[in-house]
Amino acid sequence: MLAVVPHPVTVRVPSKVNLHLAVGDVRPDGYHDLTTVFQALSLTDEVTVAVADEPGVEVLGENADAVPTGPSNLAWRAVQELARFSGRDPEEPRVRVVIRKGIPVAGGMAGGSADAAATLVGLSALWRLEVTRDDLARIAARIGSDVPFTLYGGTALGTGRGEQLVPVLSRHTYHWVLAFDRRGLSTPKVFTELDRLRDEGDPPRAGAVEPVLEALATGDPRQLALLLGNDLQAAAVSLRPGLRRTLRAGVNAGALAGTVSGSGPTCAFLCEDQEAALQVAAELAGAGVCRTVRVAHGPVPGARVIGGEDAP
Ligand code: ATP
Repeated sequence: MLAVVPHPVTVRVPSKVNLHLAVGDVRPDGYHDLTTVFQALSLTDEVTVAVADEPGVEVLGENADAVPTGPSNLAWRAVQELARFSGRDPEEPRVRVVIRKGIPVAGGMAGGSADAAATLVGLSALWRLEVTRDDLARIAARIGSDVPFTLYGGTALGTGRGEQLVPVLSRHTYHWVLAFDRRGLSTPKVFTELDRLRDEGDPPRAGAVEPVLEALATGDPRQLALLLGNDLQAAAVSLRPGLRRTLRAGVNAGALAGTVSGSGPTCAFLCEDQEAALQVAAELAGAGVCRTVRVAHGPVPGARVIGGEDAP
């Protein structure tokens, strides 16, 4: 009897912006406790998984060269973790993963984590696993702290290292302009720089998270704009001083507020509505302060199959 080879499965997965990111002081184990509010954005990657005799990862799209295709690719880590979970050999999964990047690499928008989440969803469909999204989230947390959020999407409050999630009521669609920088920033370096700045002085700290949650419940972008806060911004700007000019240019172009996304260097500008976002994007693109400008909206759902089999 001929074995039936399942069709490849393609998954679309969102990026994230942190509306609020409060970073605790460095712990003895070197990590920081975080309190963050994530919003999933319509700037996405697409990941296709297929049964293949030549296993591995292929990366396509802008800045694909900057992404490792070996075992350190987070999508491959996801393949190995799910293989282990489902009793397959994690060293020899007969799987090929093709990643189409739309999310900037090392941009503070959880691109690598998103690819891992997409791979978990795609592979569970390809392998017809009986798993819930909560099962996948437990595996996701072992791969990286942003992986569970890109799996669920929406808007969520994250604590711990960002992997302990509670969904947040968010009534409104928010419109964003994203300014990509010419080069990425390493997340660990940004945290180290924050520790250094805190040793030397008192960089600004994000306020309490509750007002951000209240603003999200009312759905007023003007109220939310006043409350955007990111403790990593001072460190990202210290390592990449040009970001100050980018942030100013977005607000001068008419955004309600701008923030560095996560560890940067992508700058995210919250706008009044879609029309305002398109205007801000056009003006920012002409200002010569960044590599590329994109518009996006959020919240959007987490990793979802868009082709092939259905998934949890
Ligand atoms: P975060 O916001 O979660 O801190 P980031 O968005 O700043 O992350 P990523 O795009 O996830 O950064 O990439 C960080 C590093 O991870 C890259 O420099 C790259 O070497 C590595 N990496 C591993 N897998 C991937 C992947 N699938 N896509 C992009 N980068 C990856």
